[in-house]
Amino acid sequence: MSRRPLIAANWKMHKTTQEAKSFMSELLPKVADVKDRDILICPPFTLINAVDQARDGSNVLLGAQNMYFEEKGAFTGEIAPQMLKELNCEFVILGHSERRWVFGETDEMINKKVLAAFTNGLIPVLCVGEKLEEREKKMTDQVILNQMEKNLKGISEEFVNRLVIAYEPVWAIGTGKNATTKDAKEAIALIREFIHSRYGVSAAEKVKILYGGSVKPENVKSYMEQEGIDGALVGGASLQPDSFLSLINY
Ligand code: PGA
Repeated sequence: MSRRPLIAANWKMHKTTQEAKSFMSELLPKVADVKDRDILICPPFTLINAVDQARDGSNVLLGAQNMYFEEKGAFTGEIAPQMLKELNCEFVILGHSERRWVFGETDEMINKKVLAAFTNGLIPVLCVGEKLEEREKKMTDQVILNQMEKNLKGISEEFVNRLVIAYEPVWAIGTGKNATTKDAKEAIALIREFIHSRYGVSAAEKVKILYGGSVKPENVKSYMEQEGIDGALVGGASLQPDSFLSLINY
């Protein structure tokens, strides 16, 4: 079964409204004819509305970079799933390593967020991956499987069919040290095997698994050529329209 490739931009904490608007006006005409792959942009919360307005009628998908799992309440500084829906988001990145390791998000919190995203009609882009010391201790597989197990606890097959997972080794993010295609392919095969063992062959065929971590126009093709790698989640190289366009046209 062939899965539609997905090239996703994670803008992190970058761009003003004006910068986001000019990015969109430069990018959109150049991707208007792209039909065989999905393009996703995940701006900071403050730019979601501007990006949504700019993309109106285009083939660009919209996502947030995080959200809280509660519906509403006294959670200062947090954003609820329905707030993202109201802004027309289709996706939400969850469990990004910066959320895990800079902001202390636990596997349990990420699990609640994955469930809240699905029940509110958002597709999670669930990020998993090992830290450098874990890779050096040959704990990569164990770390990934543990994150998968905990982050997908209680998530039904119906939801997993729509899930996007990003394998993002922490040591490769924003460092310029990308994982080898072999390492990325192996980790992604392990993730798909986990989905197969828990949810069956159909879910394993449907779940989309991306690689993320220092993906650049120069190396994107080598990942996309690997069996089982369905796309890329890109930070730094997604910030300039030309660079993001080269990634889309890998
Ligand atoms: P990077 O970030 O492409 O800048 O390494 C990837 C990510 O954090 O999703």
